[in-house]
Amino acid sequence: MKAAEFKYERPGSLAEAFALLEDGDLDATPLAGGQSLVPMMNFRLAQPGMLVDLSALDEIKGISGDGGGLRIGAMTRYVDLAASALVAERAPLMAMALPHIAHAAIRNRGTIGGSVALADPAAEMPALLLALDAEITVQSSAGTKTHAAADFFLGMYETALQSGELVTAITVPAPAPDRRFAFYELARRHGDYAMAGVAVAASGAPGGVCSDYRVAFFSVSDRALRATAAEAALDGKVPMDGAEAAIAALGEIPFAGDLNAATATKQHLSGVVLKRALERV
Ligand SMILES: Cc1cc2nc3c(=O)[nH]c(=O)nc-3n(C[C@H](O)[C@H](O)[C@H](O)COP(=O)(O)OP(=O)(O)OC[C@H]3O[C@@H](n4cnc5c(N)ncnc54)[C@H](O)[C@@H]3O)c2cc1C
Repeated sequence: MKAAEFKYERPGSLAEAFALLEDGDLDATPLAGGQSLVPMMNFRLAQPGMLVDLSALDEIKGISGDGGGLRIGAMTRYVDLAASALVAERAPLMAMALPHIAHAAIRNRGTIGGSVALADPAAEMPALLLALDAEITVQSSAGTKTHAAADFFLGMYETALQSGELVTAITVPAPAPDRRFAFYELARRHGDYAMAGVAVAASGAPGGVCSDYRVAFFSVSDRALRATAAEAALDGKVPMDGAEAAIAALGEIPFAGDLNAATATKQHLSGVVLKRALERV
């Protein structure tokens, strides 16, 4: 099937983009890498009146140091994140996960802002941002808002974004020197959406006890979410010493099956991926 008819604009500034997106008569939708939106249009699951292509907005592209952390423009592509020495140094969790996000052709076009705005429950990036305590900057002509990642992902394809707003940046705080990370996902084939996956962060010396755990799952429920009871069960323990208690605490998660795996399978695989991630922290 082909997409329904639509208009197309490629604004040269954020102000022009907001004018288009906020005009209710145009029924305008932002276009980032198009790797999710264009297939949705071809299946006629989305029929926007106008696409507002964000690709000329240099002001929301690129990666810069922000204190000891990172500021990543929403239109930064996965391929640029994967090639960035700053990302590898300051957000190693992201560097670990990027090769698992889709396939090379999709990473060449797909953007961090597109993934954040879409909030696909099976996407890696929202869970990474939860584990990294990242913040999401949102702008409209009315001004700028900042959301903690923990308050941004509200449900399946549902976020705190309001109509007319754009995700413009993602901010990742500086990791403490003893911060350690692990990522693990199970997919039928490398590059496919995961059947279950988890991102873990914790502070402590290698082989020693850790504290301040973050355990963020994706592709197990209607959204990326932190398993706070599992985090509490791990606190003050060597990661593997706390694994059984953390897995037992996963009952807090409202597991939900999808086309890839049934609910009970998701629940079982969550324990498997968490154990394998804890082995790597
Ligand atoms: C075969 C295939 C496999 C894939 N596998 C994976 C995978 O394993 N993991 C994964 O995470 N993803 C996967 N994807 C999705 C891919 O990562 C998408 O690129 C990503 O989800 C969306 O990014 P995009 O830049 O292409 O956004 P687009 O498709 O352009 O946009 C997605 C949505 O976000 C909105 N939007 C985009 N940017 C903004 C913004 N700055 N502000 C507000 N709204 C915005 C759009 O209006 C649209 O509704 C896969 C896609 C395909 C086709």
